[in-house]
Amino acid sequence: MKIYNTLTRQKEEFKPIKENEVGIYSCGPTVYSSPHIGNMYAYVCWDVLARTFKYLGFTVKNIVNITDVGHLTSDADEGEDKMEKGSRKEGMSVWEIAKKYEKEFLENLAELNIELPGKMPKATDHIQEQIDLIKKIEANGFTYKISDGIYFDTSKFADYGKFANLNLEKLKEGARVEINQEKKNPSDFALWKFSPINEKRQMEWESPWGIGFPGWHIECTAMSTKYLGETFDIHTGGEDHIAVHHTNEIAQGYGAFGHNTANYWMHNAFITFGGTKISKSSGGLYTVFDLKEMGFDPMVLRYMILGSHYRKGLEFSIENLEAAETALNKLKSYKVESLSSINQTFKQEFVEKISNDLAMPEVLALVWKVAKSDLNPEEKWTTLLDFDQVLGLNLDKEITEEKIPEEILKLVKERKKARDNKNWAESDRLREIIKNKGYLVEDSQNQCTIRPIT
Ligand code: AMP
Ligand code: ZN
Repeated sequence: MKIYNTLTRQKEEFKPIKENEVGIYSCGPTVYSSPHIGNMYAYVCWDVLARTFKYLGFTVKNIVNITDVGHLTSDADEGEDKMEKGSRKEGMSVWEIAKKYEKEFLENLAELNIELPGKMPKATDHIQEQIDLIKKIEANGFTYKISDGIYFDTSKFADYGKFANLNLEKLKEGARVEINQEKKNPSDFALWKFSPINEKRQMEWESPWGIGFPGWHIECTAMSTKYLGETFDIHTGGEDHIAVHHTNEIAQGYGAFGHNTANYWMHNAFITFGGTKISKSSGGLYTVFDLKEMGFDPMVLRYMILGSHYRKGLEFSIENLEAAETALNKLKSYKVESLSSINQTFKQEFVEKISNDLAMPEVLALVWKVAKSDLNPEEKWTTLLDFDQVLGLNLDKEITEEKIPEEILKLVKERKKARDNKNWAESDRLREIIKNKGYLVEDSQNQCTIRPIT
């Protein structure tokens, strides 16, 4: 297995710490709003990684954490806690917000046929571990205290910024003067932040340094090393994490244990829309449920994602999604009822491609080579189903979703608006119109589903 390691900027032969076993930690979602297809792109990529290792005979220990505290609106410790902001916006407590969006994240995983990670630990369930880790970093002389918290002194770590090729001098010159003058270096980051004086945060804890909450980066070092060991195999995340979050995790590992915690760091590129990165803080775009409402089976999105290499990213458009839908439907049409044997020549090719840093676009090309080959239909389908253990496209399941007409979708959108404005009479009126046109709208906690009346 070869993977591209951001640490060395090279494709490397993967050498596990324990034979035939792999530990993978993936930075999880910040549960303050609905995950969009950009976020889910990342988790499909890491699902393919886990499935690939399983296919190759490894025991996979994978972790995706849930960030439910400490992630501020700027990755660089400035601004408001995203969770508290979400709570104010929706008029719910932070804990309710966390629960709501964690549930939505799990629903998204299921929709996209992403296998549940071995563990999904929450930052708020690991406050003690984070405090213990900060104590270690403190004992090793890497911290200092200023009025709003305990900070990591990045000048104490000679290799700080090497991972992301950061130019620290430029960072210093570019540092905005109004921001935290007390910090010793612009790149220093918070390990523990104090609650504001005279203000009670919804989430805050006692600590040896005072009441407050952990910084965002410390949770990942605390949970990854708790569950996978002080040194583990692979750490993954979106490429946006390289410059700050993972750079700081590496510094924390050094501060606490004297070494980098992960042997391989892998990063996915982004989904873009009209050339712009899709991001939650910039308002987000489609969610899996939006696409479902438009009549697209989530497996179509998964197929589309597989068609891109995880380090290249993907330009999203409805036209591309439609092309993926046509391809997936065509692929499913190769289904036969009885199975025979897996073609070993094609299987070997498949193994070579998945083992080459997850070359999924080439894998899809191979899938079509098999489909169009002159193998007998049973052998063809059996081989494709074998590949599907990694692809995760649920090839043997029928697509049952029926395309919902534009007119109905428009009415559903109007109804959603009415509901958002708590205009229940209007919402009921629209439901009746939709019903008379042959469709039922059902509301569950976070979403609404439409189905034809049969
Ligand atoms: P967040 O919930 O904002 O912490 O993000 C969860 C994960 O999604 C992180 O690993 C991000 O790097 C990743 N991510 C966010 N936006 C995109 C995007 N447009 N394309 C791919 N990955 C993304
Ligand atoms: Zn993380």
